[in-house]
Amino acid sequence: MPELPEVETIRRQLAPRVTGRRIVDAQVLDPLWCAPRLPEEVEEDLRGEPIVALGRRGKYLLLELADERFLVMHLRMTGNLLWTAAEDDAEPRPHLRVRLVLDDDHRLLFVDQRRFGTGLVIDGREALDRYIGERLGPEPLDPSFTPDVLRALAAGRRAPVKAFLLDQRRVAGVGNIYADEALFRAQIHPLRPAGRLKRAEIERLHTAIVETLQAGIAKQGSSIDDYLDSNGERGSMQDEFLIHLREGQPCVRCGRPVTKLRAAGRGTYVCRRCQPVPRPRRTASRA
Ligand SMILES: [Zn+2]
Repeated sequence: MPELPEVETIRRQLAPRVTGRRIVDAQVLDPLWCAPRLPEEVEEDLRGEPIVALGRRGKYLLLELADERFLVMHLRMTGNLLWTAAEDDAEPRPHLRVRLVLDDDHRLLFVDQRRFGTGLVIDGREALDRYIGERLGPEPLDPSFTPDVLRALAAGRRAPVKAFLLDQRRVAGVGNIYADEALFRAQIHPLRPAGRLKRAEIERLHTAIVETLQAGIAKQGSSIDDYLDSNGERGSMQDEFLIHLREGQPCVRCGRPVTKLRAAGRGTYVCRRCQPVPRPRRTASRA
């Protein structure tokens, strides 16, 4: 599933290519993409629109159109947003859900095998802010995301820190891969309750989140399943994983074999020496 680094890679590739262009045709081939709105309505909204900017919040891509209208796209599990020349769009393409034809004859193709990806047109910046605000916490690569902000978000949370990191309303954009990598870097066990992390641990975790996401962007994201960038190329972050998917292999820090467990319902990779297991909670009186 694309996480922040994958979506940001796509944004950085596409922004210079699509900004200032115009959408001359829009074809929504899969009604599920924009449900409950009808494909014809969304096509109508998009056709003829200029592309003012391409932004991102968390895992959402924000294609800004005229008059502060936005096409808000989410790739979910298997979505890819490809930029192709017209001649590469001549053959039928499996899993193609949406085609946007630009005025330079390039196309933006939303390709998505499992069809969980979505597109939604939002009218006005206030409505956009409200939509995003209801779904996402702070943007981890924004300078306003400080250790104090992270500490305030974690305060009182009894959820395991891995589940806390996966909750997009706490920290936006972190998913299963980068949560594992950040917790390993910070030497924190994924099952520790988020609200019980000490100040020094929160500071380590903050640094680790930022460094992990930046490393992912520098490697153009991770391709362990369907993720491709906008050129249809694989990222290479999967070759740099410190802990994720390394079950049985020696820990890069201490050499002990990496173990796999389940946290927040997801396969989770830890080094039990570098990330000490949480102490069992003191049980209340049994009387
Ligand atoms: Zn280790």
